[in-house]
Amino acid sequence: MDGVIIKAYGGFYFVLAKDRVLRCTIRGKIRRQSGQALVGDRVNVKQINDTEGVVEAILPRSTELIRPPVANVEQAVIVFAISNPEPSAVLLDRFLVQAQAAGISPVICFNKFDLSGLAETEQPDIVKEYRKTGLPVFGVSAKTGVHMDNLRAVLKERITVFAGPSGVGKSSLLNALQPGLALKTGDISTKLKRGKHTTRHVELLPLAGGGLVADTPGFSSMRLPAMRREDLAGYFNEFAQFEIGCKFTGCLHNREPGCAVKAAVERGKISSLRYRHYLDFLAEVMEEERRY
Ligand code: GDP
Ligand code: ZN
Repeated sequence: MDGVIIKAYGGFYFVLAKDRVLRCTIRGKIRRQSGQALVGDRVNVKQINDTEGVVEAILPRSTELIRPPVANVEQAVIVFAISNPEPSAVLLDRFLVQAQAAGISPVICFNKFDLSGLAETEQPDIVKEYRKTGLPVFGVSAKTGVHMDNLRAVLKERITVFAGPSGVGKSSLLNALQPGLALKTGDISTKLKRGKHTTRHVELLPLAGGGLVADTPGFSSMRLPAMRREDLAGYFNEFAQFEIGCKFTGCLHNREPGCAVKAAVERGKISSLRYRHYLDFLAEVMEEERRY
């Protein structure tokens, strides 16, 4: 039977298989072959009785996150507040680069829509600005529940980690999603962690729609991941449609003549804010490169 490890505790692995959670041990042979099992690992499990099983194989991982240690995260919901605290676009872009460099698709979520003073059908400026990236962007309120269904819909059938600075409402969003939690066992706690330093025992919370959400926020280090300078533009995905027009292959969209990305910024097709962050990050990446 196929399943996903949603919790590791006390030497046991708790595997969600079909609609139940089995407390599993893991064969020593498997551990030696595949190494340490991680929360998020997709596994083959043999059921022993109603509540117990044995992990017989760990399937290959698509991604492996370090903070928190979760395998197969497909999606990061990057949360900022519309206000209180004011959103930092440069920090948001940093999260976007980090997620994409780890092979994880970002979803941008601006919480505290209720503080915008706008009608439900209107969009805050920052939401409009980031829609230009082509990435999914939501403006929601954990407090009033407005547009939360849009967020619920993207969580379906995937493993998701929330990320973002503190105070933006990540715990509140997870709590608002909790009515959807569908666990059939009393063996595993569904309580959300509120503390700051709880990454040691990360758990995946199963939602009614079939998605799994990590109970611990991700990407807390703000350094850009190690990369080559020519990789950076690939993480600014709205650049892609323009850069084929650049005069030089391997154009870094900086000081090169005939740069189509720069031209797109001048014509207002690419946000100048995003481009400025790209140049800042490029300098940072080149500085890092020089150290090796
Ligand atoms: P976290 O640090 O990102 O986990 O943020 P919290 O969930 O702890 O929320 C920080 C503060 O923002 C708390 O006082 C929440 O009550 C408040 N908050 C969270 N979501 C909303 C929202 O949608 N609207 C408003 N007005 N306040 C919110
Ligand atoms: Zn260029």
